[in-house]
Amino acid sequence: DVEIAIKVVIVGNGAVGKSSMIQRYCKGIFTKDYKKTIGVDFLERQIQVKEEDVRLMLWDTAGQEEFDAITKSYYRGAQAGVVVFSTVDRASFEAVEKWKRKVEEEVGSIPLVLVQNKIDLVDEAVVSPEETEALAKRLKLRFYRASVKENLNVDEVFLYLLDKYMQK
Ligand code: GDP
Ligand code: MG
Repeated sequence: DVEIAIKVVIVGNGAVGKSSMIQRYCKGIFTKDYKKTIGVDFLERQIQVKEEDVRLMLWDTAGQEEFDAITKSYYRGAQAGVVVFSTVDRASFEAVEKWKRKVEEEVGSIPLVLVQNKIDLVDEAVVSPEETEALAKRLKLRFYRASVKENLNVDEVFLYLLDKYMQK
């Protein structure tokens, strides 16, 4: 049977929780095997959508994002993307637009979603709800507040992207 495979890139500054998010999402009951290539990794999760098997391949970086050194092969063929920043890292919030632009420069316009991670640390937040909402609105991105730690809104992020992708 025909299988749909979707490459999803997860971008954002270092330490915002990208690798954690990928591992959280992919360690459900549909977890497939972990693959490692030179410089880049992806984990995958298979889900059923209307009797079709869809394979979401979530591409991770190996820390190159901190040196602005993500290779073109990381982005190549990406069909959806997640831009992540952290509730407790102001610079990561300010870098969101740069990450969105980077993805679009490499692969054009694809379904993207904006995620504010570590919402469990909201008491220590360095970004306000108003400014996060304003940014999402200005960049025309669907916005989720999530906690990978507490498994809050992680599935929702990928379901949204999947839905967007299937609508095309
Ligand atoms: P990456 O550099 O973007 O891949 O970030 P990592 O996934 O390596 O996470 C960086 C740190 O943030 C690790 O210590 C994680 O345990 C922690 N972390 C990730 N998600 C959350 C979250 O939702 N809440 C909290 N409190 N910590 C998190
Ligand atoms: Mg990482």
